[in-house]
Amino acid sequence: MNVLLTGGAGYIGSHTAVVLSQLGHQVILYDNLSNSSCIVLEKLAQIAGRKIPFVKGDVRDTGLLSNVLASYEINAVVHFAGLKAVGESAQKPIDYYTNNVQGTISLLQAMQLRGIKTIVFSSSATVYGEPRYLPLDENHPTNATNPYGRTKLHVEEMLRDVVTSDSQWRIACLRYFNPVGAHESGLIGESPCGAPNNLMPYIVQVAAGQRAKLEVFGGDYPTPDGTGVRDYIHVMDLAEGHAATLNLLSQTTGWHAINLGTGKGYSVLDMIQAFEKASGRQVPYEVVARRAGDVAECFAYPNKARELLNMTARRTLNEMCASAWRFQQSIQFE
Ligand code: NAD
Ligand code: UDP
Repeated sequence: MNVLLTGGAGYIGSHTAVVLSQLGHQVILYDNLSNSSCIVLEKLAQIAGRKIPFVKGDVRDTGLLSNVLASYEINAVVHFAGLKAVGESAQKPIDYYTNNVQGTISLLQAMQLRGIKTIVFSSSATVYGEPRYLPLDENHPTNATNPYGRTKLHVEEMLRDVVTSDSQWRIACLRYFNPVGAHESGLIGESPCGAPNNLMPYIVQVAAGQRAKLEVFGGDYPTPDGTGVRDYIHVMDLAEGHAATLNLLSQTTGWHAINLGTGKGYSVLDMIQAFEKASGRQVPYEVVARRAGDVAECFAYPNKARELLNMTARRTLNEMCASAWRFQQSIQFE
């Protein structure tokens, strides 16, 4: 299959490119490099053993997208491109709606023009908002509590309308929980521009000595150790979930929302401890006030992915930490 990955130079897109390419798909990356760099293209070529075609472009450029879809004879799109920082989305909602919602409309217009009706969309567990029960299954009510989450929800709803209007579309909204870790080679991984917003990249930078200590946001949650609990999933398991989803969509039409998580929750202190063990480094930390908008616990009921995609996240917490550390060391000594 010829698959276009929008946002393909980014963290999750690059790992998915490896998996799809190794399965024999022809992968084309489309990215404006606003949160990634060309260096990843060299690393991908090293891992895949061949160059992966790349087009620098913005998803809001419908004309360019349409040309790319036609010239590479694309059969399906995996749509990663977008902005993803929850805090920033409250300060810059217009940027978020433009990139995430307008960007998706532009992509759908280009796809419609070319008669391409298969799309996998990067959604997020954020669409559930404050959990009313745990674990979160796909029938849990959606109620995003920040602009970022609302962009994801708007796109999910838009995609549902598209399927309602034309039953030939094949659409999957993958609701990611917390992707962490890196490709086993350590060549690609998560390298956020500026100070990390997320826990794992922050821990990595503290362990590497780039930051003095980790601030643990809240020690008084109703959780076993008082710190926030999340469902961390290895990015390679997540990437394999995309391959399985493309396979599902080759056999079925319609709109599907599917959780990608492990079903297991780890606290912030669990993560620190696991990382210290995997890296052999200390991660100094201080418990500070809760971060606004955070929930105490969030983890998936992953059975739909198991049933529909035949997929179970199999990589361990130790593998998540060890691979993230390997990647950090590879960029540190470059
Ligand atoms: P990332 O920032 O590493 O990758 C996104 C890529 O999209 C970047 O390479 C960026 O340059 C590109 N991009 C952004 N706006 C674009 C535009 N207008 N046109 C073209 N390219 C554009 O992020 P990621 O962690 O790989 O996330 C990928 C997707 O998964 C995003 O949609 C994100 O919202 C979603 N998601 C991520 C997480 C997470 O924790 N990483 C969790 C849930 C959902
Ligand atoms: N967290 C933290 N310090 C940080 C970043 C995150 O204590 O510097 C906590 C956060 O409060 C949450 C967990 O780590 O309980 C995961 O946060 P992240 O931002 O990675 O993911 P999300 O909150 O989006 O699930």
